[in-house]
Amino acid sequence: MEPEFEERAELFHQDVTREYYLVGSGQKEEMQIAAIYERYKHLFAREAVGQALADVGEKPKRLLAEFVSLEYMENLVKELSEEITNHLLKAKVEWDGQEVPYHNVQTLIVNEPKMSRRHDLDGRRREVTAAANPQRESRWQTLHAEAKGLGFSDYVALCDGLRALRLAWLAEEMKRLLAETEKVYFEKLGYFLYKIDVPEAQAATSDIAYLFRAPQFDVLFPKEFLVDSLRKTMQGMGIDIDQQSYLELDTDPRPLKSPRAFCAGIRIPQEVKLVIKPKGGQDDYASLFHEAGHAEHFVHVDPNLEFSYRRLGDNSVTESYAFLLQHLMHSPHWLKRILGVEEAKDFLTLLRFNKLWFLRRYSSKLLYELKLHSNGAVGADKIYVSTLGDNLGVTVFPENYLDDVDDAFYAAQYLRAWTFEVQHRRYLEGKFGGEWFANPEAGKHLARLWKRGQEPVVEEIAADLGYDGLDIDPLVEELIDFK
Ligand SMILES: [Zn+2]
Repeated sequence: MEPEFEERAELFHQDVTREYYLVGSGQKEEMQIAAIYERYKHLFAREAVGQALADVGEKPKRLLAEFVSLEYMENLVKELSEEITNHLLKAKVEWDGQEVPYHNVQTLIVNEPKMSRRHDLDGRRREVTAAANPQRESRWQTLHAEAKGLGFSDYVALCDGLRALRLAWLAEEMKRLLAETEKVYFEKLGYFLYKIDVPEAQAATSDIAYLFRAPQFDVLFPKEFLVDSLRKTMQGMGIDIDQQSYLELDTDPRPLKSPRAFCAGIRIPQEVKLVIKPKGGQDDYASLFHEAGHAEHFVHVDPNLEFSYRRLGDNSVTESYAFLLQHLMHSPHWLKRILGVEEAKDFLTLLRFNKLWFLRRYSSKLLYELKLHSNGAVGADKIYVSTLGDNLGVTVFPENYLDDVDDAFYAAQYLRAWTFEVQHRRYLEGKFGGEWFANPEAGKHLARLWKRGQEPVVEEIAADLGYDGLDIDPLVEELIDFK
């Protein structure tokens, strides 16, 4: 691969990330991704991909081959991707005599105290989601066929091989996680549904979303203190976010801004945006700290690393840093030191259940996606409903069976990240104590890891910290501990 090819690949990456940033931050009304692919089309020529795939010996080459193959495939479905995104950006749902933008419906659902109205709202939302399912189906048909066209047995083998996800191992471990957490999960589910007045037989995902909104805890998480809490936390680690010229924190309330916070590393490390639309409450804090984990990782990356290690690589790494900062909310030490909260037992119990829900949901998603991507989209909606429904104990609707899927097994990267995060946190606690986040030495440790970008995979970082690779036991132990 020529150096010039890598430079072009990085410029393409920047342009795409900038487009997502502009649309997501509400500064642009429509996404125009296809034009960017057109500008860089020689990167995605069939020969370039073939050449990259023939040359996957060393790690940076494998990462580049992964990037080029996935983008080559995306290039073939870019019009469909754009159509689906723009359909949702423009769609409206009628509610109480008003037209509500599709992307704001979830906010209404989580704030709607009446179950029947939540279910009605969610039904209207699903109608819009389902309207784009034919496009999603045809998109996956093409991607599945192209994976074979590139010489892999299927899409699973392509992602697993090029992304080093160890999917077979992970699936077995996640089946174990589901089995070992089942009893505690269903006990807690019954308890929490009772608390929000939802009969178990009628419970659906929208009720769980409402449960986690938990406005009774808003008073612990004041909107005015949101950014300050991050500033104060990072100060404890010896990091002054106001001095980080590479980082831009965007909290402006633009009407078109996505309600979901995100971090865009447009140029890593020089141009990193953390975008959030604060609504008030604990969710703002969880989102801000999660995205700050990405942002701090990105701005610390060594600018001299090659493109593959700065931009590509195992996203389980950056997700693990995001989960590490997000998890501070689970720490009574952090709640006390940063927010002055002395007693938060009920909040912490809910937060534990929230994490258990997410782990069971993503484990189920992984098992479902393995089937979807080896057998195809036809009939997959039934597998989606039964796999997620059985493991979560609430109604899961078939309309979401493709909307609830991220490309290239991102779900697996989250699961690898959650697993490693507990190992990493235990290392930090062992070395610096329960208040590790208030120790500049812990900040230095993190900065040293962040500097390496995504050159190592999580297994390698775990080994550096003295572990024998990835281990789900500490995670499972924590998930079933409701003391
Ligand atoms: Zn993330």
